[in-house]
Amino acid sequence: MRVVVVDPSRTVLKFIARLLATRNHEVRTFVAAREALECVRSDLSVGALITSDELLPMSEMSGIELCWEARLLATCRRPIYIILMSCDRDQHKLIEALDSGADDFIGKPPVAEELYARLRSAERLANMQQELLRLALTDSLTCVLNRRAFFESGEEVCERGHALDCLSAIVIDIDHFKRINDVCGHDVGDEAIRRVAEEVAAENAITGRLGGEEFGMLLEGRDLAGALRIAEDLRTRISAMRVQTEKQRLKLTCSFGVSEWEPGDTIDRLLKRADIALYSAKSGGRDRVVAFDPELIAAINCSSLYCRARSAAR
Ligand code: GH3
Ligand code: MG
Ligand code: MG
Repeated sequence: MRVVVVDPSRTVLKFIARLLATRNHEVRTFVAAREALECVRSDLSVGALITSDELLPMSEMSGIELCWEARLLATCRRPIYIILMSCDRDQHKLIEALDSGADDFIGKPPVAEELYARLRSAERLANMQQELLRLALTDSLTCVLNRRAFFESGEEVCERGHALDCLSAIVIDIDHFKRINDVCGHDVGDEAIRRVAEEVAAENAITGRLGGEEFGMLLEGRDLAGALRIAEDLRTRISAMRVQTEKQRLKLTCSFGVSEWEPGDTIDRLLKRADIALYSAKSGGRDRVVAFDPELIAAINCSSLYCRARSAAR
């Protein structure tokens, strides 16, 4: 685990760094709280912070305040285990430390085995949090992002859209999928969804299952022409793919709608345009890639029934 240690004494820092290094922890030591905080903020692989309760020089910040500031950096996606170290085992101090965001309290100088045990506990918690996060964000059938996680990532990407060279979206839907379920059974349908997801996930993009047999891709640094090439390549690969069933090797196709980020876009608007293009790909005969064009809106308005059905499905 990568551990940040803060203490005004370089001797104490050296002592703790040596203890941790013998157990293969990566240690970053600081005498100033602000620098330590900056390290925790910028280095996302820092999993634990051990700080002294003393006033840390050059930082106008106490160890307790550092606990508080570091706690603000921890999120459900980024666990940080915070340990306050003190020579004083006073109960009030312990309560204050825990109330200020510390997860744990340890004597100073720490006893080696106790320190190791506390970091083992930190690792257990971090692993559990990672596993919960994985379960919350990934689709269990395909292992790509689930709809919520895809939209969350999309919001982040769209917020920095203006800073990117370009950004495009692709929405993919398996053609006549109900037929696959009806003729070959639900299990074959599931396998078909998994195989398509594998192909889609092989591209360098943010990939999510939007629902049923529908996927979304966000391609940072790709303009419309680049995204169209990727979609066309995927279309060819998927139509050449075969899903083995008991009776046959099943062939399937997908339709693709592609859109490009515009200034002021949100993830909803970007995907909505890709969705309009997808609708055009479906009505144009399926197994094809269509780029969004404002003229398609008129066509889709004529089929508000389809739109309502799609939004209801979501
Ligand atoms: P189109 O070419 O117009 O897309 O036709 P379609 O038959 O694919 O139409 P539609 O999108 O309405 O069908 C989606 C079907 O996917 C309906 C639903 O029963 C099925 N489905 C949704 N989720 C799953 C799943 O997890 N596994 C399987 N096997 N089927 C699913
Ligand atoms: Mg479909
Ligand atoms: Mg569908």
